[in-house]
Amino acid sequence: MSRICEFPGMAKPHDDLKPATRLVTAGRKPEWTGAAVNPPVWRTSTHLYENCAALETGRHVNADGVFHYGARGGPTQWALADALTALEPGAAGTMLYPTGLAAPVCALLAVLKAGDELLVSDNSYDPTRTFAQRWLKNFGVTTRFFDPLDVAGFAGMIADKSRAVLLENPGSLTMEVCDVPALSAAAKAGGLAVLLDNTWAGPTGFQALAHGADMSILALTKHVGGHSDLMLGSVTATAEYYTRLRRSSLQLGQQASPDDCALALRGLRTMDVRLRQSTASGLSIARWLQARDDVAQVLFPPLPGSPGHELWRRDFTGACGLLTFVLKGRDEAARAGLIDALRLFGIGYSWGGFESLVLPVNPERDRAVTPWPPAFLDQADRQAVRLWIGLEDPGDLIADLDQAFGAIKPA
Ligand SMILES: *Cc1c(COP(=O)(O)O)cnc(C)c1O
Repeated sequence: MSRICEFPGMAKPHDDLKPATRLVTAGRKPEWTGAAVNPPVWRTSTHLYENCAALETGRHVNADGVFHYGARGGPTQWALADALTALEPGAAGTMLYPTGLAAPVCALLAVLKAGDELLVSDNSYDPTRTFAQRWLKNFGVTTRFFDPLDVAGFAGMIADKSRAVLLENPGSLTMEVCDVPALSAAAKAGGLAVLLDNTWAGPTGFQALAHGADMSILALTKHVGGHSDLMLGSVTATAEYYTRLRRSSLQLGQQASPDDCALALRGLRTMDVRLRQSTASGLSIARWLQARDDVAQVLFPPLPGSPGHELWRRDFTGACGLLTFVLKGRDEAARAGLIDALRLFGIGYSWGGFESLVLPVNPERDRAVTPWPPAFLDQADRQAVRLWIGLEDPGDLIADLDQAFGAIKPA
């Protein structure tokens, strides 16, 4: 056992290590792994106590690493939570959830009550918007949407009853990069909790808490799982919010399966190299798309010239190969023809796996205050296609895109 793994996890001994190194060492406490490299899958509901006095102690201790009952998890879950905490500078702890969507849902429920208002950036993940508009509304919480690129407009919206803001950076369909430090500063001046869905870049690509968020939300289903074989979510929070988040999530009965957590831990160890490759291949493909006459715009923050590139360079240390492009003056049938002609890209939801995916996206269906197409596009150019670039050879992916564009010609 290396020395570093004898002092794992919770921030301090890891502060000087680079994210790629933390991905390898984090969460590997000897009391959880034994002599094995990885923690075993601890399947547990009941924990047996020595005696009544020990039972009483367990009732009061409420932290990962102390057995109580399966609802509070066991070493496999704690190792994953501990690793995610160690990856996020400024974090006090992490809660795990059975899906990515359950993570923002529980984070919102931890900070909102009847009479409060939630502000949501207009590029936010559609199912989270639906939760706010349907469920939170039923519980007396109102929601208003704002343009994530308009900091002054956002600051001006904050009212007495505004309690929380939900950001997504960048938006996973339209890739707007927002000024998180500026939005967070405005939110905090108004006493709002800042929740940020950080699924696109993940903790190695964007340090959400260091840039002003109070809670960093991940769909672990995507990059951490990395192999399209599990669903999980997490929220990593500052000390101020972690206690509230933990209490509400346990009261809401949220926990993740130890089997899925073991898979997520396996995925986590290789996440850095997978994301680097996906980003590099994504850039090759984005450049190739950008040079085509039949593509109006590539939306991919790491690409020079893409909207959001300057803010991405300022704030991010990494990325992933999720990008959107807009066809020039083509209709929906042409877009469907292009997508159907692809051979290496699967048509399906989600992303972050080893295999490439394609999806037609219709941002106008989920917008409240920002238009699609945006002002910088010709209004005839509205057919958007989202690509997830996996680990195939990028030359093969470009050849596949090339033949698919050929299949829909001429305009
Ligand atoms: C996929 C996704 C989620 C939800 O994750 P699931 O595991 O599919 O429930 C939340 N936010 C973003 C940005 C996502 O892409």
